[in-house]
Amino acid sequence: MGARLKIGIAGAGVLGRLLAWQLARAGHAVTVFDPATGPGAPATGHIGTPVPYAAGFTAAGMLSPLAELDNAGPDIARLGWRSLVLWRQTADALQAQGCAAPLFAQHGSLMLAHGPDLGAARRVLARLTAVPALTTAWPTPQALDRASLAALEPAIAPGLHAWLLPDEAQVMPREMLHALAQHAPGVWWCWDEPVGDVAPGRIVLASGEAEAFDLAIDVRGQGARPALPVRGVRGEVIWLHAPGASLQRPLRLLHPRHRVYVVPRPGDLFVVGASEIESEDRSPVSLRSAVELMAAAHSVLPELAEARIVHMESNLRPALPDNEPRIDHEPGLLRINGLFRHGWLLAPALAQDAMARAGLAISEDTCHA
Ligand SMILES: Cc1cc2nc3c(=O)[nH]c(=O)nc-3n(C[C@H](O)[C@H](O)[C@H](O)COP(=O)(O)OP(=O)(O)OC[C@H]3O[C@@H](n4cnc5c(N)ncnc54)[C@H](O)[C@@H]3O)c2cc1C
Repeated sequence: MGARLKIGIAGAGVLGRLLAWQLARAGHAVTVFDPATGPGAPATGHIGTPVPYAAGFTAAGMLSPLAELDNAGPDIARLGWRSLVLWRQTADALQAQGCAAPLFAQHGSLMLAHGPDLGAARRVLARLTAVPALTTAWPTPQALDRASLAALEPAIAPGLHAWLLPDEAQVMPREMLHALAQHAPGVWWCWDEPVGDVAPGRIVLASGEAEAFDLAIDVRGQGARPALPVRGVRGEVIWLHAPGASLQRPLRLLHPRHRVYVVPRPGDLFVVGASEIESEDRSPVSLRSAVELMAAAHSVLPELAEARIVHMESNLRPALPDNEPRIDHEPGLLRINGLFRHGWLLAPALAQDAMARAGLAISEDTCHA
């Protein structure tokens, strides 16, 4: 390794924790500041003034470089395919450090459409396969007939059109956020410490106190305003508990009005998401979103009928005006933001690119067990 640097990170969301973990493993002295009261997921769903916290906790954790081509360009997919490899290595390394929780799974994902929605589904598929690189470097959607779908996922309602998106994956967001914070050697976590400003070589806390660093990193997501023109895009998810219901991989239902996904989690949990609303309203999940999301999920997985609704959550995705991620670097300062609806998908590859720009290349070894 090169010189041991003193690095300050503003924000302990997906990017902040991943960077802290990587930089500490590379031997740097890392301090992280965040307004959260601690590393765990906050209690949510209360009526009253909602307290902002990392979007990463709310996310479904789908790593869908292929399916995201419906919403984003090939650069996002390229970053995503790189990140998949890096998340697997990160999960292996965390498990070698003693983390017992499941962190990562890779069984592909499914795209489904009800009969009358086949036209809409075909238009989406055309977008996913329009990128030239898809035909060579990346896996393509594979149409499944009724028997293949039944063999792969017997619980899915018969009569749906289905495509397998090979190699897509998922992280377990809460477990991964927790593991990154817990297994980052020597990182100094400053909770309950909002940052007011991040400048070259300097982090200024909301209290007015300032600390000098060799490198200051701003990964405050939506909290980076006014330094960046970032906005929040509301998303809502519902957690269902359905012992006995089986689903091996995330699925998304193509529909002219809704994009609904169901993501299996350990412990017989299923995360159903997600609305995407141009609003910075952090209040609890609306009846309309809950009804629409759950009706769609039930139409695909009839076994969810007796599921129990155990949790509902809303949060804001940090997005820049063009909905693209952005890395800004100048001596002593790095800002990464705009991860929008694919922050888990992009974070490791963006972190790697950002570190390279700052002259702090994170070697593959840092992520390896
Ligand atoms: C409903 C929903 C579903 C999603 N599903 C997926 C998915 O399936 N796959 C996927 O890839 N992505 C998904 N995302 C997107 C993903 O969660 C975000 O893109 C990602 O969390 C962005 O990471 P980040 O580190 O930039 O920001 P965040 O995770 O939001 O972290 C920002 C951190 O900065 C802190 N902060 C804020 N203000 C300050 C301040 N003043 N000082 C210090 N710290 C501050 C916050 O407390 C927080 O800890 C989803 C998001 C939502 C809301």
